[in-house]
Amino acid sequence: MRWIEDIRREPSDSGASISLLLRATCFALRTTGQTVVEIHSRRGWFWAMAALFAFTASGPIFAQAPSPAPRFVVVLDAAHGGNDAGARLGGEAEKAYTLAFSVRLRSLLMARGFGVVTTRESDTTLEPDFRAQIANHANAQACISLHAAESGSGVHLFVSSLAPVQNTHLDAHFDARFPAWKTAQAAWVMRSLSFAGVVNSALSHATVPVTLGRTALPAIDSMRCPAVAIEIAPERSTDAQGPAGLDDPDYQARVADALAAALVEWRSQAREDRDQ
Ligand SMILES: [Zn+2]
Repeated sequence: MRWIEDIRREPSDSGASISLLLRATCFALRTTGQTVVEIHSRRGWFWAMAALFAFTASGPIFAQAPSPAPRFVVVLDAAHGGNDAGARLGGEAEKAYTLAFSVRLRSLLMARGFGVVTTRESDTTLEPDFRAQIANHANAQACISLHAAESGSGVHLFVSSLAPVQNTHLDAHFDARFPAWKTAQAAWVMRSLSFAGVVNSALSHATVPVTLGRTALPAIDSMRCPAVAIEIAPERSTDAQGPAGLDDPDYQARVADALAAALVEWRSQAREDRDQ
């Protein structure tokens, strides 16, 4: 872009103050590498307004930082709640455990710049459809549904058992007003499997045993985003220290950190895909 600077200087000129402003502007433009052409004009005001117009129309010169990436939104779904207590875990109900874990994971994710939407923040009863509605409304890039169990070992990682459908089908059903309820996840199963792969490697990296599975997931089956359900079970390691219970703070931290690391990886993969 070329710029025009009117260098006519007359102290009595009614355009003197605006000329001063323009001189400062033109100086600033030169320092940012812009071309500024000097002209001598009898009509200072005309050129002053023309230059100001050009300056305004050219958009922000001094704030050319790239526009921020759209917020990467993660939905955390603390399973059970209210009338649905879930499994009995020692002295605690599963619904309380999943809520506490959701709160913990949320703060880890927020510290890493994620937008986090939770399906519940208190001990409330939520229907699966309502959980899906929250995730779909949030336009989430990932959802983790949180469960806990006394049986088994490590983390059980589940993806919907719906058969995948083609993306063309996805486009046809993508209209938010008409979600393919109960089977919406079918269009996302392949993405959910990729997401599960990322979660699996993060947990394995943190030496948490993982069991993978596919099953019907009432809330997730209606979700239109990559989604997994995880069920945290005690860690039954073979070392001399014995199993780490569900309430073991070190074990909880390891699982939560690994999930946060998985989401960081998932986000960077999504950004690479977008930039290609
Ligand atoms: Zn459960």
